[in-house]
Amino acid sequence: MHPVKLLSLTARIHIPRQPAQAVLGALMLGTGVMAFGVSPALPDVTQGPIRQVVEPLGSSLALPDLTEENPDFSIHQSQLTRRDETLQTLLKRLGVEDRDAQSFLARDATSRSLLTGASGNLVSVTRTPQGRLKSLSVRSVDASSQRVNRLVVEARDGVYASRLEQPTPRRLVKLASLSIRSSFYAGTDQAGVPDAVAAQTIEAFSGDLDFQRSLQRGARFSLIYEAFELDGEILFTGQLLGAEIQNGQQTHQAIWFQAPGTAGEFVSLDGSSQQRTYLASPLAFSRVTSSYGPRIHPVYGGQKAHKGTDYGAPAGTPIRTVAEGVVSFAGRQGGYGNYVVVRHPDKNSTAYAHMERISVKAGQRVQQGQTIGAVGSTGTATGPNLHFEYLVKGVRTNPSQITSKTSNSTTAAFSQPGFQQTAKFMREQFELATSVALASAQ
Ligand SMILES: [Zn+2]
Repeated sequence: MHPVKLLSLTARIHIPRQPAQAVLGALMLGTGVMAFGVSPALPDVTQGPIRQVVEPLGSSLALPDLTEENPDFSIHQSQLTRRDETLQTLLKRLGVEDRDAQSFLARDATSRSLLTGASGNLVSVTRTPQGRLKSLSVRSVDASSQRVNRLVVEARDGVYASRLEQPTPRRLVKLASLSIRSSFYAGTDQAGVPDAVAAQTIEAFSGDLDFQRSLQRGARFSLIYEAFELDGEILFTGQLLGAEIQNGQQTHQAIWFQAPGTAGEFVSLDGSSQQRTYLASPLAFSRVTSSYGPRIHPVYGGQKAHKGTDYGAPAGTPIRTVAEGVVSFAGRQGGYGNYVVVRHPDKNSTAYAHMERISVKAGQRVQQGQTIGAVGSTGTATGPNLHFEYLVKGVRTNPSQITSKTSNSTTAAFSQPGFQQTAKFMREQFELATSVALASAQ
């Protein structure tokens, strides 16, 4: 168990895409660091101007009378909706015993659907100690469309009325630092980094780094990403804005940059594209079980050169082509089982063996990262694995040489408007993350 350290930190951060000042605070637990910055980039209907109300106190303070029905005394309670639950049992869990309220909610179609239609909607009530409903709100979140619906039901003059609101979550910029003890995903879990952000990180470095093969113990990550907050709660995350990896002696950096009129891409701090001719791995996430070189053959025994790299992965794991090209072979071939060869524009080929199924045809054009089949154990294989080959002029060459090849279609992001500001901001964030990580290590 690691000692829990607390550290507070403030800094001014500057969001280049939407100039704004914000305060950054950090909370640190063990080696995981989370920091929160606030950017008023999106309109924020939830945070109105703060109004301070000062009222003189009377000479005597009366305590609320709890013995009788007191209209001024309220209980607040919240619960998440459950699947296949009736309105009655939900209200019971919230301590509401109110026939009028129940019949209103049952009649109101929007209320009914939000309260009993799906699980995980947050219901909050204000009620009297005796269970009479004063107000109720129910919030549903659709993370894919980033939409939030909030229904508010209030009793006014003995009559219930409902209204539907669509509050806009507040955009935050979060900073997370983590170091790897076992696997990348174990590290992100420990630091509380959402899986969607972890997946974008792997994608950002897909041309540089095989997260299973090349990541060293103690590798340090700084991740800067968008998160959206409402009522003090993170509802969903957005774009990974930047990532820095200290892996042994090497430092990799990627920042998200969206030039005007483009979809956006990960680029280096100098503006060169992170896009590579070849991806570092044919599987998004995998482990190498046997490298290129001499080895004892697992099925036939005897020393024999292994002419590829084996990736262990569960059967059915999608296999992606590491570069664009044309499928030159797709079908059964002896010990290879189901086998696909893709010929790339540089005339070199990559090949994929033991596939459970093939999802491309010979002659078909494929894009980099496109799924061409799934991991299996067809042909001569001891279990599900991908045997991956790199063919240079038809000769099976060590696939580890692929990652050193860089793209010849580097885009010059640095000359684009806004790039220098974005790069400056991200550089500052990476420095901040490093100083926080160093402080926590002392
Ligand atoms: Zn193999």
